[in-house]
Amino acid sequence: MPGWPKVAVVGGSLGGVTAGLVLRDLGCDAHVFERSRSVLEERGAGIAVLDATVRYLVEHGIADLSRICTSTHWLRYLHPDGSVQHEGRRPYRFSSWNSIYRILIGCLGDERYHLASELVRFDPQADSIRTEFADGSSSTWDMLVGADGIGSTVRQQLIPEVVPRYAGYVAWRGTVAESLLSPLTRRALDDAITYQLLLNSHILVYPIPSKQGTVEAGNRLINFVWYRNVAAADFQALMTDREGQLRTVSLPPGAVQERYVEEIREYAAARMAPPIADVVAGTEKPFVQVIFDLEVFAMAFGRACLMGDAAFAARPHAAAGTAKAAANAWALAEALEGARGDVETALLKWEPEQLTLGRNLVERARRIGNRSQFEGNWEPGDPSLNFGLYEPGR
Ligand SMILES: Cc1cc2nc3c(=O)[nH]c(=O)nc-3n(C[C@H](O)[C@H](O)[C@H](O)COP(=O)(O)OP(=O)(O)OC[C@H]3O[C@@H](n4cnc5c(N)ncnc54)[C@H](O)[C@@H]3O)c2cc1C
Repeated sequence: MPGWPKVAVVGGSLGGVTAGLVLRDLGCDAHVFERSRSVLEERGAGIAVLDATVRYLVEHGIADLSRICTSTHWLRYLHPDGSVQHEGRRPYRFSSWNSIYRILIGCLGDERYHLASELVRFDPQADSIRTEFADGSSSTWDMLVGADGIGSTVRQQLIPEVVPRYAGYVAWRGTVAESLLSPLTRRALDDAITYQLLLNSHILVYPIPSKQGTVEAGNRLINFVWYRNVAAADFQALMTDREGQLRTVSLPPGAVQERYVEEIREYAAARMAPPIADVVAGTEKPFVQVIFDLEVFAMAFGRACLMGDAAFAARPHAAAGTAKAAANAWALAEALEGARGDVETALLKWEPEQLTLGRNLVERARRIGNRSQFEGNWEPGDPSLNFGLYEPGR
């Protein structure tokens, strides 16, 4: 019997940390390697939280979701004049990427979470995998998990021909303190995820915990996500930051050139429902994330595997990216347990269902995004647009 493997998880975001936790709990000697030098902050602002994202916290009784997540009960669409276009009951839970990340890394502990550890390459050997890091260190593992996101180094080495495809639009994002919004605006956004449809575009607004983790109404942050088409010819100019450096995946808060920030504020003031325009206007440092489609044809490669966005990056419209990464991690631990620690057997068992999950999500999110950005047939209240990992609403 092989015993529980020694595992290197590359990438220390929500997916990688969840993998580190469930594999450690199984009995593996699991370590998570993150290239960032300091604990990750500000990543991604708000997220809609599906069950899989917080499964670890719930099953272990680690966090009370009502203390780390905000919740809303209504789905609301506004007309440009601020009147309600559509309203229906649809409960959602939201949090900030940071709130969940901080609790998860606390569960993993410093001895298993290694910052400033960028994987540069790996060498599969007969019964192991040797990893090399940017600081010159190397080590040997029974299994390598690539949870290193859309630009995955692990994927680039395994299947360099698979690359992310630009979807034709970006997400403008940001947050404003709820306390800075007028009572009128707060009432209009109250207890809802609020949408507005725009020409070849849409924006959504929802409450998330404050930086300190407060979830009480009045002291939260209000988060917006606004999808805007950017033609290939204009892409480079937008994605060149204030220092003149071209970024290909995201422009962090403070990096977007002032002329683009002014342009979105002017657009919002002219065409958005007043409560939504207030959120955009009040956001000090909006940031940009490029929307891609990424699909691999395989996730298991001997003793190495790909999970989360490293394997399938879906457009964010199903709000399921972190849930998918976590679901991949849980399934991996279950497969290893079923195979009594035999890595190659476990990965072969694990792969087919995860491929199906990834393919279905990428395809559903692509269809949803295209309806908004290119086809003009997004219908407020259509249940097929609901968030969900396995299907809309689930
Ligand atoms: C606009 C937008 C809105 C979204 N909204 C939601 C939402 O509401 N709900 C939701 O669940 N998801 C949402 N997502 C998706 C979600 O952010 C991703 O699916 C999720 O972060 C993927 O997690 P991951 O752990 O696989 O990868 P990532 O979060 O991308 O993390 C990869 C990590 O690997 C590290 N890394 C990279 N290369 C190396 C290396 N060579 N060595 C070591 N470390 C490395 C990186 O620094 C990073 O920390 C949204 C995404 C976008 C763009």
